Amino acid sequence: MSSQIPTGLNIDGDSDGYVDNVCFIIDGDPTGWSSLLWPHMWSLYSVSAYINAKRVWTYNFQLQNSTKSSGVGVLCHEMFHSLGAPDLYHYSMDGRHPVYTWGLMEYDSNPPRHMLSYMKFKYGHWIAAIPEITTPGTYTLNPLSSATNNCYKIASPLSATEYFVVEYRKRGTTFENSLPGEGLLVMRINPAYNGNANGPPDEVYIYRPGGTTTLDGTPGSANYNATVGRTAINDTTTNPTSFLTAGGPGGLSISAVGAVGSTISFTVDFPYAGTKALNVTATNAGTSITVTPNDILGHGSGTTDFSRTYLASQVVTLAAPATSGGLSFQKWYLDGAEHAATASTTVTMDAIHTALAAYGLDLGEAVDNTALTWERGPGLVRADDDRLQRRRRRPERPDHTQREYLRHDNRNRPGDAPLVLEDLIRTQL
Ligand SMILES: [Zn+2]
Repeated sequence: MSSQIPTGLNIDGDSDGYVDNVCFIIDGDPTGWSSLLWPHMWSLYSVSAYINAKRVWTYNFQLQNSTKSSGVGVLCHEMFHSLGAPDLYHYSMDGRHPVYTWGLMEYDSNPPRHMLSYMKFKYGHWIAAIPEITTPGTYTLNPLSSATNNCYKIASPLSATEYFVVEYRKRGTTFENSLPGEGLLVMRINPAYNGNANGPPDEVYIYRPGGTTTLDGTPGSANYNATVGRTAINDTTTNPTSFLTAGGPGGLSISAVGAVGSTISFTVDFPYAGTKALNVTATNAGTSITVTPNDILGHGSGTTDFSRTYLASQVVTLAAPATSGGLSFQKWYLDGAEHAATASTTVTMDAIHTALAAYGLDLGEAVDNTALTWERGPGLVRADDDRLQRRRRRPERPDHTQREYLRHDNRNRPGDAPLVLEDLIRTQL
C-alpha cells in the first residue's frame, strides 16, 4: 500500500516522524463496544510499518457496515481522537451524559454535530483563544458554526481553576440540524481532568435542568433561550445553579438570554463584585451562631468556623448562644476589637470582617477581662486564682481557649510581662 502513496504528499504535518493518521476501513460489522471490531482510534505498537519513511502510528479503525449507518459521524469522532481529543462520554456507562448529544465526542450522529467550542479550542486548536467576559453587560454570540465570535469564557470567582464557557447552538446548517434544541449552552470546564471517559468528575459538563452532582437531569433541554423560557443561570434562583465539580456554588450569573436569531444575546453580571466576606469564629470551635439575613448564596446560620458573603454595606445580625462547651458568652470581637457585650449584635459589611464570639468562665458578674492576669510557664495560671484552679480540675471541658492563646503568645512576647486575657484573644485574630 505504501507504494500507492505519492511521495510528495504531506503525511506528517507536525514533522514528528510519524504518519499523522491512517484510517483502516474493515469489511464487516462491528461486534461490541470495547471489542476489536468496533470503531476506534489506537496506535500501531505491534507492527513497524512505514510510508515514505514515516512510521505508521496513530490510526482509525472503522467497520464498513457501521460507516454505512453511522456515516461520517463516526469518522469524525475517531479522527478527532487522532487530533488529540478525548471522549466526553463515561466509559462506565453510568447513564449520565455530561455533554449529551451537544458534542461530537459524546455522540456521533449522522451527520455529526459540531464538537463543542472548548474542544475546538483545546484539542483542535481551531480557536486560538476563548475571549473572556470580565465586565458586566449584554453580549451576543454567533452560532458555533461561525468562524468568529462563537464562544466566551467567564471565570468562576469561587474557583481558582474551574471556569465557564458559553456558546450558541443553532440549527440550519448540515451539521447542526439534528440538535436537540437551539440556544445558549453554558458549560463548566475543569482543566484538572482530560476528557470525561473516567468521570465524573468531568472535564466538560453542560448545565441542564435537574442536573446535580448526582443526577443527570434532562441534558436534552440544556439550551437557554427566551422561547423555551430558560433565560438565566445563577446560584440562587435557577435550576440548575452554576455548581462547581464538588457541588459548591460557581458564582456565575447570566440572565436575559434572548430569542434564537442570527445571533443570541445574554447579560452577564458579577454578583461577587463588591461583596465582602464575613468570617464567623468563636473561642470554642463548633459554636452554633445564628446569622440573619441569609447571604447572597442563601446560606445563613452556621457552626464555627464558617464564612458568609454579603453585598457591601449590608447589615448582618449575629446571635451567639449563652453558653458553649460549658462556658459562658462574654463578648463579641470584630476584627480584633471589642464589639459588643450582648450575645446578639450587628455587623455592617463595609469591609471583610472577622467576628469572634468569646466564651469564658461564668464569673457571675460584669466581666472585665483585663482584671484577669495570666503568667507564663508550665503552671499556666496563677496559683492564687481559685476560679482558674477550679477550671484546671475539669479537663473534660473544652479547654483550648486560654491555653492555646497563652502558648501562642509566648512565642511572640519576650520577657515575663503579664498577659491579659483580652490580649490573648486578640492574638488569635
Ligand atoms: Zn471515542
